Amino acid sequence: MGAFPVTRITTSRKDSIDFSNLRFGVYFTDHMFVMDYSNGAWHSPRIEPNEPMAISPANMTFHYGQAVFEGLKAFRQVNGRIVLFRPDRHASRLNRSCRALCIPEVAEDVVLAGLTQLIREERDFVPAQRGHSLYIRPFVIAMDNTLGVQSSQTFRLIVLLSPVANYYAEGMKPVSLHVAQHHSRAAKGGLGMAKTPANYAASLLPAKRAKEKGFTQVLWLDATEHKYIEEVGTMNIFFKINGELFTPPLDGDTILSGITRMSVIELCRSWGTPVHEQRVSIQQLYEAAHSGELEEVFGTGTAAVISPVGEIQYNNETIQINGKQIGPMAQKLYDTITGIHYGELADPFGWIVEVC
Ligand SMILES: *Cc1c(COP(=O)(O)O)cnc(C)c1O
Repeated sequence: MGAFPVTRITTSRKDSIDFSNLRFGVYFTDHMFVMDYSNGAWHSPRIEPNEPMAISPANMTFHYGQAVFEGLKAFRQVNGRIVLFRPDRHASRLNRSCRALCIPEVAEDVVLAGLTQLIREERDFVPAQRGHSLYIRPFVIAMDNTLGVQSSQTFRLIVLLSPVANYYAEGMKPVSLHVAQHHSRAAKGGLGMAKTPANYAASLLPAKRAKEKGFTQVLWLDATEHKYIEEVGTMNIFFKINGELFTPPLDGDTILSGITRMSVIELCRSWGTPVHEQRVSIQQLYEAAHSGELEEVFGTGTAAVISPVGEIQYNNETIQINGKQIGPMAQKLYDTITGIHYGELADPFGWIVEVC
């Protein structure tokens, strides 16, 4: 893949970034990777200054939400190399989301070459501190300017880069979950398997209600029966019951296929821990908690990697998990995956891809 043309900014904003207080998605690098779709083809891949764009108020994305996104990270390893975690999986998931939203698929090698060249350009923005990283946000928006409800004929792909802090400023901490009994994240036949703004819009009100009740996040049940557990907040979920792991299966199309979920399953199987991709009802979970068989609950996602769950409330009954402490499986998975990210541990699965 040849080098894409670069238009550079004149003054870097790097010096205005407080690398000791990065938080999440607040700061951005100087440039972005851009590509356009028109007349039936993706074209004009390029690197441009990351600056406000002129967009028509009639842009269809504002009105009907035809858009998809991805989220992955680049890490500065202990030996100084900058690497990506399973970028091929993120590129293929971007296309899965595109198909669900009637967006023309992108050439995965072009997207990966584009973000790689962009990260090389912006290598000084990749934080050096252990636990910090460069968050990569590829996304595609519709670019037609019309109020007619139909698929757009033109699109734009952009890749933004944002240096981010460790999700856990003071170490991993168990979260509390409130089970959504009246809301659902995604229905059968809907967009649950796509990374698209609509799913996030649907999650905002239930998330606000859960916070008002004093909980960190929402535990989502299936939209048909409000019985089976699907996801937690914007993460996949795992249960450790009697020494074995359970996670909801992806066959219903309502659950996002997380790359962290996939990696946790592969790691646990390599350790000899059985993993069942099997539906777990909220009833079964409560029974396992009451009988003392529920050992751990944790969420998985690129942002936090592993997010242990200490407490769940359903129907005004609260259960505590592992005495609200981080469980050994959650800790081992977190240490292993982040160890692979930063090059402290070997990468036996070939998940790491070098950028520079
Ligand atoms: C992105 C996302 C996840 C986690 O996926 P990763 O690839 O592990 O980051 C889980 N659930 C939802 C709804 C998501 O949008």
